[in-house]
Amino acid sequence: MKYHSTRNNKLSMTSMEVIKQGLSSEGGLFVPESIPRISKKELEALISADYRQRAKRILSLYLTDYSENQLSFCVDRAYGTQFSSSAIAPVKELEEDLHVLELWHGPTCAFKDMALQILPYLMTTALQSTGDKRKIIILTATSGDTGKAALEGFKDVPGTGILVFYPLEGVSYMQKLQMITQEGDNVSVAAVKGNFDDAQTGVKLIFQDAQLLKEMEQRGLRFSSANSINWGRLVPQIVYYFSAYLDLVKEGRISLGKSINIVVPTGNFGNILAAWYAREMGLPVNRLICASNSNNVLTDFIRTGVYDKRRTFYQTISPSMDILVSSNLERLLYELCDRDDKKLGSLMAKLNKEGYYSIDEAALKKLQSMMWGGYATEEQTLDSIGNTFKSTGYTMDPHTAVGKWVYDEYRRETGDDTVTVLASTASPFKFPGDVLNALEVEGSDDEIELLNQLAEASGLAIPKPLQGLKEKQIRHTAECSADKMKEQVIEFINR
Ligand SMILES: *Cc1c(COP(=O)(O)O)cnc(C)c1O
Repeated sequence: MKYHSTRNNKLSMTSMEVIKQGLSSEGGLFVPESIPRISKKELEALISADYRQRAKRILSLYLTDYSENQLSFCVDRAYGTQFSSSAIAPVKELEEDLHVLELWHGPTCAFKDMALQILPYLMTTALQSTGDKRKIIILTATSGDTGKAALEGFKDVPGTGILVFYPLEGVSYMQKLQMITQEGDNVSVAAVKGNFDDAQTGVKLIFQDAQLLKEMEQRGLRFSSANSINWGRLVPQIVYYFSAYLDLVKEGRISLGKSINIVVPTGNFGNILAAWYAREMGLPVNRLICASNSNNVLTDFIRTGVYDKRRTFYQTISPSMDILVSSNLERLLYELCDRDDKKLGSLMAKLNKEGYYSIDEAALKKLQSMMWGGYATEEQTLDSIGNTFKSTGYTMDPHTAVGKWVYDEYRRETGDDTVTVLASTASPFKFPGDVLNALEVEGSDDEIELLNQLAEASGLAIPKPLQGLKEKQIRHTAECSADKMKEQVIEFINR
């Protein structure tokens, strides 16, 4: 399997090269030249397999230049006892026909661990295998959860260094505390005075800074990305949609071959794009339901075919979805434009210059035939948490709650009662104040005490990684404006 870029489809690169590099040099994203198919027979063979075995099978279809032994090594180390559930990504029944796929049993309590536990192994294996002696410097912009998950994945990994930028006022208290207390000799964290889009744009500019890249080259360093623009982040996420489907078959909830719907609370469009790849590969999926918060640029796009980022940016209680430029949409758009890299390049240029673009009628029809978009306001998100708790006893975090709200709306509007999987993207303990508020419990002023209150109200145990935070020392206090991110990078590589 070879890869090219959404903005240059004449490239031909191996998966090891694209995982090392992250973003293509002309600014496009790497995509596989073709999408592998998986037959019903092969699916059947995976019903009795565990998560690791399923992961090895799916990854081997895309990462064809990794040997079987190399993939086994990466998968076995990534999906082990650092997950608090032996199923790794367990599926639980929430209501009749609705199942939650819990993706937050990893070390940082959000779904980003599903990919960021394995990415460092994929990357260092690629370095060794290709005889690349350069040290990789990971630059990551985070809307809250990627940063911590990437820090945790890359800390003290030989041959790598990692610098994370988070929006100063744009992450939850828990998310911030998790990052600024990060341990490890090769890590650094800086707050950017701006929102996530500012931080993400800043990182993309640094990746294309010719002068800086030249200097890096001379010093035996290279940049890479742990954001979901990196193919190595996306491909492990395809696995859990297969795994959820296979679990439903195994438990007799559906018969093999029957289609499901998948709901994904969406920000940068990575998680739902992974579900789209699973669907293209032949996983029986009817509709993908794209759920947004008040930053509903994707809802409008799916409904009208116009992507317009010229709108108010809202800080919400689901901060990891506070995004107006959903980077990974570029990969889907490329497919919707029938893999026309010139056309795609001009749409992206228009987005950059004018702040919007639109797709033609044929592309919109194709999009709507597989995807449905909706959003939840802040009040609806809180209602969704409260109502679900009342009717089922299940406590959701605000991101998952956005998904649940949009699912309910979808069912009301379409009457579609297809068995559905809702991707649950974070532990409710990452957002204890807002969740308690939704449960109508008066929360303490002390953020750590909120964890205890939520444990009591929900009947759930506080995840170990969050419980330990209060004893941790604060290690990272740097702040900068968005146009000074480059200076932070230079300081980091000079230290
Ligand atoms: C990152 C994140 C999302 C959004 O995922 P994308 O892949 O960016 O669409 C949703 N919920 C949580 C909790 C997240 O951390």
